[in-house]
Amino acid sequence: MAYDDQNIFAKILRGEIPCNKIFEDDFALAFHDINPQAPTHALVIPKGPYVSWDDFSADAPADLVVGFVRAVGHVARLLGHDGDGYRLLANHGANAHQEVPHLHVHIFGGRPLGPMLTRSG
Ligand code: AMP
Repeated sequence: MAYDDQNIFAKILRGEIPCNKIFEDDFALAFHDINPQAPTHALVIPKGPYVSWDDFSADAPADLVVGFVRAVGHVARLLGHDGDGYRLLANHGANAHQEVPHLHVHIFGGRPLGPMLTRSG
């Protein structure tokens, strides 16, 4: 799937649409999800044109991969969930119900999160 630079997270990265920012560095931007599914629901996105974990893991330069992974951990600590626990989730493609075609890692926390998957379908 080709990267669409008109996706909403690309617009947030370019500053065309606002976000509730948590953290930003050379590699990543983190902000609160607009429709939170837990007391903490943050999104971390890499600063590069990657649709999902699939192309990011295959094609991104090593400094961006390392910087992005470190940013996810840093944001979880900033949000205070290194002690009580949190969940990471990255959807890729139709079966995972990915809605926004720019790689994003969800960070959920702030309450017991239950089992990993719902049993629908
Ligand atoms: P996914 O299904 O993994 O693609 O998740 C997309 C996420 O992006 C959903 O949790 C949405 O609530 C969230 N989202 C969509 N638009 C925005 C926005 N403008 N600001 C913050 N979060 C957003």
